[in-house]
Amino acid sequence: MQLRDTPDQRRFREELRAWLRATLPTLDPQPSQDDWPARRAYDSHWQALLHRAGYAGLNWPAAYGGRGATPTEHLIFLEESELAGAPYVGVNFVGLLHAGPTLIAEASPEQRERHIPAILRGDEIWCQGFSEPDAGSDLAALRTRAVREGAGAGDHYVVNGRKIWTSHAEVADYCELLVRTGPPDGPKHQGITWLIMPMDTPGVSLRPLMTAGGSTEFSEMILEDVRIPVANRVGEEGDGWRIAMVTFAFERGTGFVSEVVWARRRLVEIAALARENAAWEDSGTRRRIAGLAAEFDALWALVKRNVSEAEHSADGIPGPGSSVFKLRFSEARQHLDDLHAEVRGRDALAFDDELCTYDGEPGYERLRSLAYTIAAGTSQVQRNIIGERILGLPKEPSAASAAGSAGSAGTTGTTRSTGTTKGGAR
Ligand SMILES: Cc1cc2nc3c(=O)[nH]c(=O)nc-3n(C[C@H](O)[C@H](O)[C@H](O)COP(=O)(O)OP(=O)(O)OC[C@H]3O[C@@H](n4cnc5c(N)ncnc54)[C@H](O)[C@@H]3O)c2cc1C
Repeated sequence: MQLRDTPDQRRFREELRAWLRATLPTLDPQPSQDDWPARRAYDSHWQALLHRAGYAGLNWPAAYGGRGATPTEHLIFLEESELAGAPYVGVNFVGLLHAGPTLIAEASPEQRERHIPAILRGDEIWCQGFSEPDAGSDLAALRTRAVREGAGAGDHYVVNGRKIWTSHAEVADYCELLVRTGPPDGPKHQGITWLIMPMDTPGVSLRPLMTAGGSTEFSEMILEDVRIPVANRVGEEGDGWRIAMVTFAFERGTGFVSEVVWARRRLVEIAALARENAAWEDSGTRRRIAGLAAEFDALWALVKRNVSEAEHSADGIPGPGSSVFKLRFSEARQHLDDLHAEVRGRDALAFDDELCTYDGEPGYERLRSLAYTIAAGTSQVQRNIIGERILGLPKEPSAASAAGSAGSAGTTGTTRSTGTTKGGAR
């Protein structure tokens, strides 16, 4: 693992810093958190600026309009952008962080040509229609049904069902949708298909859901007789579970990197605040600050190790080490927000942000941090992955095999292993 920049990496870092210094002051103030049309316009404008400057799709292959940068350069990009206070991907997170890379890996040439350049320019927003009310960690239990109809072998699917926790569905143009095309009582990991659903198709309706932080960033998505052309299918019918695993591998990636940079900065602010008030007198508080500082330093080293491993692996995809990172980071992030609230005292309850952007607002960040141990695969699911894939422990028995039944419906080794990033909650 290389801890210092090579001369090329240093040059890349310096050029990026100069570009960020020149570009960030040209941005308008961030819109308020639930003004979705304004947020879409803001995030798309930022993406267009990145695209013009050659920083869009940094780690995407150059053949598909990306920069073809190494994982380390991508890490430098995320680190410098966060240090400079640049906007994050925002409503573009599904398109840029996992739908786009999945299309590159699995879609037809026509599908790639149709969507990849538009995602990179910030012209096309995507959402993810995977979770259902009874299929979250156990995603393969999904029941949204797609039946093939039409001329010949059937030129379109008719889709009926319900999706939930669909982040930014309100502003999305397309949805990466998992549906069941196989028989409802068949083996649950088979018979799943990955479709591209235009969000303006008749029969798609949204019911915004309010988070504890007061945002409508999620929706419930109701699908009634939605007709999706067979040409919008990615991969073969029934091969959707394998493709979803490709999506998850990209979704995991370096998604939380910016968050570690943010958390280290926030801890320095908390320490400064504690010195100003009586909190610093308490040796327990000082110990917690030091403990978290050590934890975030260790997590940063782990990020570098995971990136370095990905750089040297054949497929460039991070291994199960990212589950260790995700588990420790999401829990440390919650401890950070608890500590901040204690150091601030009663002020921690106030929402002072008059513009309602809530970015960095302590009360809001604390509520938001509760999502970290759920999104991107819950902490329990990460522990299962670490136990089974890193420590080599036996697989947890499935409910069906525990009941002694033949023909198990699946094992927890195939539970949803990854998920959204910071963008998912902003
Ligand atoms: C911020 C955020 C953004 C999201 N965005 C999207 C999105 O855009 N699109 C989308 O499709 N989904 C999205 N989700 C949904 C997310 O993927 C699910 O919430 C997650 O997979 C957990 O599923 P669940 O909520 O149904 O909980 P459940 O799976 O019902 O879990 C309930 C509890 O049981 C535990 N549990 C479940 N299975 C096991 C097991 N095998 N072993 C041990 N414990 C277990 C869990 O850890 C949890 O504590 C988002 C979630 C969040 C928080």
